[in-house]
Amino acid sequence: EAKAKGKGTFSHFNAEMNNRLEHRSLIETELRRAQTALEQFEIWLQPQIDLKSGRVVGAEALIRWRHPKLGLIHPDEFIYIAESTGLIIPIGDWLIESVCRHLVDWSADLPSQFHIAINISAKQLYRQNTCEKIVEMLDKHNLAANRLHVEVTESLLIKNERKAQQYLKSLSDAGVQVWLDDFGTGYSSLKYLRQFSFDGVKIDRDFIRDIDTDTYDQALSGAIISMANDLGMSVVAEGIETATQEAFLKTKSCNIGQGYYYSKPLTTDAFRDRYLTENTIAKTTLALVKM
Ligand code: C2E
Ligand code: MG
Ligand code: MG
Ligand code: MG
Repeated sequence: EAKAKGKGTFSHFNAEMNNRLEHRSLIETELRRAQTALEQFEIWLQPQIDLKSGRVVGAEALIRWRHPKLGLIHPDEFIYIAESTGLIIPIGDWLIESVCRHLVDWSADLPSQFHIAINISAKQLYRQNTCEKIVEMLDKHNLAANRLHVEVTESLLIKNERKAQQYLKSLSDAGVQVWLDDFGTGYSSLKYLRQFSFDGVKIDRDFIRDIDTDTYDQALSGAIISMANDLGMSVVAEGIETATQEAFLKTKSCNIGQGYYYSKPLTTDAFRDRYLTENTIAKTTLALVKM
């Protein structure tokens, strides 16, 4: 340590590296422990809004880890570790099953057009037959396949394009929509559009953030939307935070919006109370009238 101190910035670097490694190994240890107690994980839902009608047409499931001591941990802090240790498999399975269970529990209150989108990572796609599992799970819970969307990123497709294509096609064939997430941030987005038949693309928040003032971002997001629409794909704009961002995207005929402007991700209870009760009330009233 004395040596390291003498090296100025290097010691600072080492200390930081050390902290990061310690943090990583803490998360990893805790993650292994949590795997046996999956109830520490929670599904949070963020609504997706049809920009024309203003209606909620679905939600994205975003995982959270409620650690008894460390508090609420966001996916960017643990998904990559879960991915490299393989723990993503049990966690991912848990997520898929829980999403299905919520869809079943809420089925009486769900609008006919309502989906939950889940994110799957590389290890899930390749190491285990996750796609087959997803279809089995839908079957088991007697859910229509269009209730579920799957979001994948380019980085996941690169690893083995042929296999990815085969797996994702099995989802499409079963009626599950497959979406390309974080569109525009990868290396060869256009190539993948050509090669895979996605049902839709999600424009990354990076392109939306400065859309009010940045003419390049306006041009790029406008071009992405019209290209996607020409190719018969739907478009979700991620990270909408203001009315002016929404207004611009509407003029470009973007189909769906998602972002803090509408709502931050919510716990499943909060989501149900906020977005599925109107229906509940309407139905309850109807039932009372009938009586
Ligand atoms: P993503 O799939 O691109 O999800 C969008 C992220 O943007 C979410 O962060 C969401 O909370 C955030 N976001 C949405 N609207 C806004 C906005 O208006 N402003 C800002 N600043 N942020 C917004 P989150 O929940 O932290 O998730 C981060 C990433 O973690 C996700 O990016 C996804 O790649 C991954 N992830 C989340 N849940 C899962 C999961 O169950 N499995 C896997 N494999 N990955 C997951
Ligand atoms: Mg996503
Ligand atoms: Mg995204
Ligand atoms: Mg992302």
